[in-house]
Amino acid sequence: MISDMQKWTPNVASIIEHAKNIYPEQEVVSRMVSGEIHKTNYKEVCIRSRKLASALEKDGYKKGDVLATLALNTYRHLEMYYGISGMGAITHTLNFRLHPEQAVYIINHAEDKIIFVETPFIPMMEALKDQLGCVEKYIILCDQSEMPETDLKNAISYEEYIESGDENYEWPAMDDDAACGLCYTSGTTGNPKGVLYAHKSNILHAQAALTGLTISPDESILMVVPLFHVLAWGTPYFAPMFGLKLVMPGMQMEGEPLYDLIEKEEVTLAFGVPTVWMGLLSYCRDNNKILNSVKNTVIGGSALSLAILKEFDEVHDVNVIQGWGMTEMSPLGTSNFLTEEMKKMSKEDRYAVQLKQGRPMYGIELKVVDDLGNELPKDGESQGHLLVRGPWVLQKYFKAEKDAVDKDGWFDTGDISVLDQDGYMTIKDRAKDVIKSGGEWISSIDLENAAVGHPEVAEACVVGIPHPKWDERPILFIVTNSGEPIEKQSILDFLESKVAKWWLPDEIIFLKELPHGATGKLQKFELRDEYTNYYMEK
Ligand code: AMP
Repeated sequence: MISDMQKWTPNVASIIEHAKNIYPEQEVVSRMVSGEIHKTNYKEVCIRSRKLASALEKDGYKKGDVLATLALNTYRHLEMYYGISGMGAITHTLNFRLHPEQAVYIINHAEDKIIFVETPFIPMMEALKDQLGCVEKYIILCDQSEMPETDLKNAISYEEYIESGDENYEWPAMDDDAACGLCYTSGTTGNPKGVLYAHKSNILHAQAALTGLTISPDESILMVVPLFHVLAWGTPYFAPMFGLKLVMPGMQMEGEPLYDLIEKEEVTLAFGVPTVWMGLLSYCRDNNKILNSVKNTVIGGSALSLAILKEFDEVHDVNVIQGWGMTEMSPLGTSNFLTEEMKKMSKEDRYAVQLKQGRPMYGIELKVVDDLGNELPKDGESQGHLLVRGPWVLQKYFKAEKDAVDKDGWFDTGDISVLDQDGYMTIKDRAKDVIKSGGEWISSIDLENAAVGHPEVAEACVVGIPHPKWDERPILFIVTNSGEPIEKQSILDFLESKVAKWWLPDEIIFLKELPHGATGKLQKFELRDEYTNYYMEK
């Protein structure tokens, strides 16, 4: 029997309309390219999003057109999230750290018709424009008075463009499961793959994030996670949904400007990847600064280390909520929020729980299987391939013919994990990064986390390298705080009490910096390729 309830075919623009009606004056703060702080509110963002949607329609753009952003975290990018998707087009967020070849591939594959370009990225677009036949127009994110000289096709300033739009524009109804946004994976092998999100999946994901991350109504949120990657973990949707103050750092992600913004805007909750927090924490450490207003930080994208967790907790009294997810999951899957039970634990026991990637949010199912696909017990020990299923997990990649999931809807995340009796999931490795030594597995993540606990170690990366006797053995790459090599033995002594003896790396190599990809993740394959013959030739 079909229910008597209303049919729900939502438009994400309903979120910004809700914020305008209920929290009109709530602040939206952005650091602009110039470094200046710009302040607006949800009412203004909503009206300007309507104007953008209307201007696009008047210009002939339609539902289903793919329009790209090459932009920073500012109020204009937020308006594009609503203005583009709200009129039925698809907001395709481009990562400005992409290798030019990948950017060309992605733009052509998506068939982007417009690219909204932040002024610092104009040279990048000018260099690529001749290879981007699909792009009809470039909208430059500035005032008309700031419009630079450029030979980009039909270039126009954003402010001039939206001026022609109607501020009373009415959002169209969406079809069931209508597409809303597009983001490409930052794949390290082969071409990047697109994930086409729905209005419905984005709204469900945002609602789940509010509860899953235990967000309270008075937060002032710092969105360091970029709007160009995986929907900034849902923040551009759930912040206006709940009337939260939104603070966006623009281009300046280094320790000092982030600290200043946090203090000035009394940020209570900050979202970012570990590398950003390492910069902030080291700035605070070197300058005797304390994070006064921040109560919680959500960390994800890479594994949280004990060193970061401890420093936030012990020095700044900031609770860390670890989140795990991926582009294919909109992105959030699990969250490790603080429970009353955890508050009663000894610090060491609590840390041990907080280093797990967390429990699945309602809607997401997890299972771990062996190489043959047999489900493994949730016993905290059995490690295998992590599969996920849920309403904000993809069914197939953009323009792919085949599904990316099995017949029962399970998607293989490529992560190697353990599930336990309490519902927690722990990531041990990416399947491709796991180290097989003498038939046993070494977790590169566990070894890296142990190494960064050493007081002289700023960053660590562990890679499995072919070995004549053991199949593979780890090499530990280290960046020290001073940038200079230190006594290898002091690192081995430190690790000895933390990991099994046979996990100890056979070699430690000091580097000035580690290779990071476009979203801040370690590019282990670069080191693996460079050192692949290291043990064989020894
Ligand atoms: P992306 O699609 O670029 O967001 O990358 C997704 C991948 O990042 C996941 O499959 C994990 O391997 C990794 N990842 C994300 N969050 C975490 C986390 N909290 N701990 C460990 N790995 C993570």
